[in-house]
Amino acid sequence: MTTSFDRSDMDKQYFIDGSTYNCPFCKRRHIKYRITDYGSYDSSNTKTVYFYLVRCEDCHKTSFHLSKYELKTHDWGSYREKTFAYPPIELVLDFSGQPFSGQSNRPTKIEKDILNENGSPKELDDIFFYSQPTSFFTIDERIPKTIREPLGESEISLKTNLLTGASGGLRKAIYKLLKHEKIPEVDSQNAFIPHDERVDQLKNKYTKIEADLFDELKAVHILTSQELHENDWEDFDAPTLRFLIGVANEILAEIYVTPHETKKRREKIAALKSQAKPKKSQKDG
Ligand SMILES: [Zn+2]
Repeated sequence: MTTSFDRSDMDKQYFIDGSTYNCPFCKRRHIKYRITDYGSYDSSNTKTVYFYLVRCEDCHKTSFHLSKYELKTHDWGSYREKTFAYPPIELVLDFSGQPFSGQSNRPTKIEKDILNENGSPKELDDIFFYSQPTSFFTIDERIPKTIREPLGESEISLKTNLLTGASGGLRKAIYKLLKHEKIPEVDSQNAFIPHDERVDQLKNKYTKIEADLFDELKAVHILTSQELHENDWEDFDAPTLRFLIGVANEILAEIYVTPHETKKRREKIAALKSQAKPKKSQKDG
């Protein structure tokens, strides 16, 4: 079995499109949501943050989302509830327009697309820098908590550009992964095993997973007890972090999630088989 970096699977996102999302509470996928409240506050003299409360139309629980964008919304029904425009559109103040005679010269709001560097529209998930509940979908609950938590912190730190926290969280997650998988820290002579060698041991344990993925993890040096009093490793930059967190998520999904899902599917097939009538062979007929 091979794996790929392309897990563009919408089940892993919060928001799917303008009216549906994956609920972090009832865990239903592709469920309708409504924005029940929204507003803004100033996080500094020059920075405004916009908050949105989003309710699941199935379990009626509400999640909280922060963005640096004031987002265009569409009205929905008679309860003043809204949904996000999709692809997301930013509302910005426009001071350029000349006031009409007899009207105040209050600036109007104009709509602006929110685009990636390559000119394609951003996904809703990419324009929120914080969500509570947090990155539930990117980090599956079947992944051990000791690994999931530092990796989740790493993702949140990266979203707010706190690179030291993001780097530390990622290193801790890899440290915990090696520990959880019982990859020894020392050899039979009680000498510390180099990080690359430990990653190779993990790679050899999971031969069904692409070896290249594990090799990328060699970049994520972790602090062993041997190195505690030596210099710390430098922080990763944001693109490297984004890539390495992606790699870590992919490996974790392959180790802890995929086998579980395969097993569930096999059980379903077995149950269907037990209910199916045995097909008569040609000879019997
Ligand atoms: Zn729900």
